[in-house]
Amino acid sequence: MNQTATAQTQNRLHPPTNQAPPETTQPWMADGLCRDHAPGMFFPSDGVGVDKARRICGECPVKEECREYALTYRIEHGVWGGTSERERRRILRDRRLAAT
Ligand code: SF4
Repeated sequence: MNQTATAQTQNRLHPPTNQAPPETTQPWMADGLCRDHAPGMFFPSDGVGVDKARRICGECPVKEECREYALTYRIEHGVWGGTSERERRRILRDRRLAAT
């Protein structure tokens, strides 16, 4: 990975949230396809942007790990593992309901 890609990966993997765990670098992150794209692409402001990010995530070999990471740490912003913020809220709600 070149220096630019590394910086992008670090930006992507250190989203502007105070909800991420202290140790935000996980082994699977090195394989994320988003490392080759601008970090902002995964923090879209509209549905078109969400769809663009989701298409990249759809081909990503670590999308399951990525989605679970975002769910585990309640990351509110951005597209993670092919899920939007709203989708993750729905998944968490469904899991809560299933656990009761
Ligand atoms: S699933 Fe999407 S956001 Fe997650 S690592 Fe892969 S490309 Fe990046």
